[in-house]
Amino acid sequence: MKRREIIKNIGLLSISGSVAGAVVPVVSRAGTMPEKRDLFKELGVTPVINAGVTMTFLSGSLMLPEVLEVINSTAHDFANMYELQDKVGAKIAEMLHCEAAMVTSGAACAIVLGTAAAITGQDPLKIKLIPNLPGPRPEVIMQKTHRYLFDQAVTTTGAQIIEVEGPEEMDKAINTNTVMTLFFNAAEKSSVTHEEFVAISKKHNVPSFIDAAADVPPVENLFKYQKIGFDLVTFSGGKMIRGPQSAGLLFGRKDLIEAAKLNHSPHEAPIGRPMKVNKEEMFGMYAALKAYLERDHKKEWQDWLDRIKRIKSIVETVPGVLGETSVYPGPANAFPSLMLRWDEQKVKITGREVAEALKSGTPSIAGVSGKGKDGKSELRVGVVLLRPDQVSVVANRVKDILKKNA
Ligand SMILES: *Cc1c(COP(=O)(O)O)cnc(C)c1O
Repeated sequence: MKRREIIKNIGLLSISGSVAGAVVPVVSRAGTMPEKRDLFKELGVTPVINAGVTMTFLSGSLMLPEVLEVINSTAHDFANMYELQDKVGAKIAEMLHCEAAMVTSGAACAIVLGTAAAITGQDPLKIKLIPNLPGPRPEVIMQKTHRYLFDQAVTTTGAQIIEVEGPEEMDKAINTNTVMTLFFNAAEKSSVTHEEFVAISKKHNVPSFIDAAADVPPVENLFKYQKIGFDLVTFSGGKMIRGPQSAGLLFGRKDLIEAAKLNHSPHEAPIGRPMKVNKEEMFGMYAALKAYLERDHKKEWQDWLDRIKRIKSIVETVPGVLGETSVYPGPANAFPSLMLRWDEQKVKITGREVAEALKSGTPSIAGVSGKGKDGKSELRVGVVLLRPDQVSVVANRVKDILKKNA
């Protein structure tokens, strides 16, 4: 075919493409205006601005355009889910410098699957029987100060939690029923250090699991715990990694990840079957992690500080109000936010009341936490989950509420 003919044919193709409708905009019944569907409006759901931290009840975090693009572009073909989980997992393991990885439906699912894997290994009968295995209940060791809401994901498998305090007690508590040890990374107090915890687990040949669900930034944490020697690590996909809200990462030792997969969908029966992850979210989780690892984290941090500076300068126009940058010590939610303080004699409203007014106003601004004590009030305004266009919206609303009471 000559070059001219090729060009002619390409021209024809693009014309027939538009005739088929793919590039013709949707036209409303009433006229020629393109119709943009607003599902929030259609269903009467209130859109919320999150000036706090990632919270599941506020739908986690917002996925980045590159993640949404991957979710859309992978929706048009079928895939074998075993193959997809294997290939996505292999890539994630390579990215995180560990033996194996998988995508779960969140960190809570990863705890169920990790515990299940520790109980069953690759034994099909055990996989079929949990949470009702015959014999003594499997035991999972946790530090007393590490008990938390999410450890119900452990007992879901039929295992019971044995509480210990200090390395000696931990060492003594491990017996033939012990299947796993679980470390809650963001616990306020630990009587056993990460290193001791791993060493004692290894001494008894019991897999150690660490829940670091909300513990990026810093990005280094995604590599830290497998390096210390934990056999299994979980992070949420839908927190600051900004993947799909119902996705998470489980990674570590290859035999345990294989056992976790056997306890998961697409197998029809096991304990993890109701915790299915769809195809688009698996691709999406991979894309989100890749984007997170490649992000300029210094620049992102600076952007957050700039947002704080902007809000501070607007709110401080109210006499008596002072703002300062405050960074959570971590390891969960270790990023900066704006702490506002004022004299309640001058600005007659408490932090709690400001937070309430922000939440009940339009648009609803949630996640701000406020306190009031001894005539001094404070309000923590989060910036990391704001869309760029929401920064001044939040600043002006906070300013207006304070000013009205000054
Ligand atoms: C958020 C969180 C979880 C649950 O994570 P999901 O991804 O929402 O399932 C578990 N553990 C800790 C410490 C968390 O912060």
